Amino acid sequence: GRYFFGPIDDLVNINDLLQRAEASGRRIFQVLDAPETVQERPGARALPMPARGVVAFEDVTFGYDPARPVLRGLNLRVAAGERVALLGASGAGKSTLIGLLTRTYDPQGGRVTLDGLDVRDLTLASLRRAAAVMQQDTFLFHDTVLENVRYARPEASAQEVQAALEVAGAAEFVAALPQGLETMVGERGVRLSGGQRQRLAIARVLLAQPAALLLDEPTSAVDAESEALIVAALNRLMRGRTALIVTHRLSLARVADRVAVLEGGRIVEEGPPDVLRARGGRYAALEQAATLEAAPGGDREEGAAFP
Ligand code: ADP
Ligand code: MG
Repeated sequence: GRYFFGPIDDLVNINDLLQRAEASGRRIFQVLDAPETVQERPGARALPMPARGVVAFEDVTFGYDPARPVLRGLNLRVAAGERVALLGASGAGKSTLIGLLTRTYDPQGGRVTLDGLDVRDLTLASLRRAAAVMQQDTFLFHDTVLENVRYARPEASAQEVQAALEVAGAAEFVAALPQGLETMVGERGVRLSGGQRQRLAIARVLLAQPAALLLDEPTSAVDAESEALIVAALNRLMRGRTALIVTHRLSLARVADRVAVLEGGRIVEEGPPDVLRARGGRYAALEQAATLEAAPGGDREEGAAFP
């Protein structure tokens, strides 16, 4: 799972990390050590299937450098089938939160549960099958569209892949490729747009059938036209699944049942978008700023960024 949904983001992080390390000498060792602390426990058990997809962060404290916590006693629950949009400034810790659920990192305090079970007690394979991450950009191998999409479930038939492509809104552009499903993509293959790659990623996740979806700014690298297609496809993907949606885009935040605003390492505001709008707090301000940014007649539609 993670390897294939994550490498581009990881490369970016490593770059960022090397730059920061240059500035601060020995810190890099702590940072590079962090993921290695995560291991499957002896006696870890598989998540009971079918998974319901109930996600909970309970009093979670975490810092890449424990002396400087990013999350400080954070609480957040996502019910089975519920969609929660997680908003917050860049650097607030939104991606970190997702990494704690999939066990890229473990918290220093509190716990993270899936269907009521501490994720540290689960096998990594069952955890990452039940909770799928989709990021800003998706890595495609130098392989066919067919193999790229069914990577998460290699035994899927070409018909199943085709059905997933249709739900993902990708069937049409794939059919127009030189060899359709058999077209080579990725490095040295046909170059696809960011929006096309994200729709293949949606098809990939559909085939994997996870109970919980962790969407980390899935539309932030695509243009406005692609964004509308992707939001529609994500809506179909999220049907019947739990979703935690990290986004700067109003168009995506609006599909959520509930919004949570992360600030200072905690959830500072939480509730249905309508209620929060009326309350005139953080969410209301973010929404207003985003709407103002999308000036009428401008080429940036309402998807423009939250500050
Ligand atoms: P967001 O996704 O909300 O923009 P992140 O979760 O990526 O925020 O980052 C939260 C904080 O943790 C930021 O200060 C960021 O610089 C820091 N951070 C993120 N990843 C790492 C890492 N691998 N090592 C050290 N610090 C990190
Ligand atoms: Mg992030």
